[in-house]
Amino acid sequence: MKTFKIIILLGKSGSGKGTQAKLLKEKFNLEYIGSGDLLRKRAQKKDFTGKKILEIFNKGGLIPTPVILKLWLEKIEELKNKKNLRGIIMDGNPRKILEAYLIDEVFTYYEWSNKVKAILVDISDKEATNRLLKRRICKKCKEIIPYVGEFKLLKKCHKCGGSLINRSDDTKKSVQKRLAWFKKDVQPIINYYKKKRILVEINGEKNIEDVFKDVLKNV
Ligand SMILES: [Zn+2]
Repeated sequence: MKTFKIIILLGKSGSGKGTQAKLLKEKFNLEYIGSGDLLRKRAQKKDFTGKKILEIFNKGGLIPTPVILKLWLEKIEELKNKKNLRGIIMDGNPRKILEAYLIDEVFTYYEWSNKVKAILVDISDKEATNRLLKRRICKKCKEIIPYVGEFKLLKKCHKCGGSLINRSDDTKKSVQKRLAWFKKDVQPIINYYKKKRILVEINGEKNIEDVFKDVLKNV
């Protein structure tokens, strides 16, 4: 990757897109904008919005688009003024087509509209379900152990040696709910980016290194 790039990562829960985002960030020294991170940081401030974000999180609800948009804008404004900015990775957004349109306007405003690429880390519903139900979490350091490649065989946490347990929020019902949301809200975004000719589809059912190789060929 020679030039400045904005990469929007899309993929189902369990696709490993977060891992790919981290690898891209390290490889090219990009700035990472993750909605989860922005919201968790904002929630530390104990004002109305901070408390409200926590309340919505705890109920498993979705944070409204205008609230997230404000956080992105602040972050992107900060980055726009940064010297030697190499590029940006967006992870966890857009969540619905409305947000895709808004992101378009934001990047047009910041004069980056021709730099945007969307990468879909694609896995089947069956693979997503299998991975989500079988992935584990370290009891001690909370590292998530994906159900892919050599991680499947781990007996103890590879970071701290802690014991591994199943994630309590990964039930069959919750997985189905996440997949249904993806079909309803994210699929239109994928179609939209395809039409704009900025979408790259990567087979996410390989191991992490091979998926990353395919990503690198396309950024
Ligand atoms: Zn651990």
